[in-house]
Amino acid sequence: MISFNQVCKRYPNGFNALRNIGFTLEAGEMALITGHSGAGKSTLLRLIAAIERPTSGSIVVNGQNISALKSGAIPFLRRNLGLVFQDQKILFDRTVFDNVLLPLQISGFDSRAATGRVRAALDKVGLLDREKTRPITLSGGEQQRLCIARAIVNRPSILIADEPTSNLDADYARDIMAMFKSFHQVGVTVLIATHDVNLLGDMPLRIFTLNHGELTV
Ligand code: ADP
Ligand code: ADP
Repeated sequence: MISFNQVCKRYPNGFNALRNIGFTLEAGEMALITGHSGAGKSTLLRLIAAIERPTSGSIVVNGQNISALKSGAIPFLRRNLGLVFQDQKILFDRTVFDNVLLPLQISGFDSRAATGRVRAALDKVGLLDREKTRPITLSGGEQQRLCIARAIVNRPSILIADEPTSNLDADYARDIMAMFKSFHQVGVTVLIATHDVNLLGDMPLRIFTLNHGELTV
C-alpha cells in the first residue's frame, strides 16, 4: 500500500533530509513515525503526497509508482489520500460544514451526495452539531477534528497526519489518537508523524523511528 525502496531526499540547498529509506506499510496497517525535530518525518510524509519528490529510490502508493509521477496525475493520487498537514488552513470565513464540503466541491460531487458525505464525516469526528457554526468558535481539539473530517470526506484509503496532536492538551491528544484508531479499525491505512511518544499508550502499533534522516530499527 505504501512502499519505500532505497529512498533518498536531498533538498536543493544540498541538505540530505532522508537517506536510504526502506519500509512497507500494508493496506489497513497503522503506524507512527517518531524522531527528533528535524529527523525527516515531515519530509517522508510530503514524499508520499508528492508534495516533494525523491532524489533517488522508488515510492509505491496504492500500487502506483509515484517516484516519477507526471504532475497531471497528482490530483488523482491525492484523491485517495487523506492529508492532515499543519499548512492546511481552516477557512474562518466559512462554516464548519462548508470547510468540509470544499474537497468534495473540488472533486466535482453533486450537492445532494456531497451533503450526506459531509454530515457523515462530521458525525465521525463528533462535530455534527456544530456544522452551522464558524470554526473560530471551536476549541483547538475541535479544530483539529475539523481538519480530520476534511481529510476523510473523500473516503481515502490512506490517511496521513503530520503532528496532529501538537498544541493539544493530553486529553485532546488521546481523543485524536483514538479517532485515527477508529479509522484504522474500518480498514484505512494510517500513518502519523509525531515527536510525542507518550501518545502511544498501549496501542499495538508499528513504530518507525527516524534519526537524522535514517530509519533505525
Ligand atoms: P521533522 O518533520 O522530523 O521535524 P523535516 O522533514 O521537517 O523533519 O525536516 C528534516 C530536515 O530537512 C530538517 O533539517 C529541515 O530543516 C530540512 N528541510 C525541510 N524542508 C526543507 C527544504 N524545503 N529545504 C531545505 N531543507 C529542508
Ligand atoms: P514541520 O514543523 O511541520 O516539520 P517544517 O518546519 O519542517 O515543518 O517545514 C515548514 C516549511 O518550511 C516546509 O514547507 C519546508 O519545506 C520548509 N523548510 C523547512 N526547513 C527548511 C530549510 N532548512 N530550508 C528551507 N525550507 C525549509
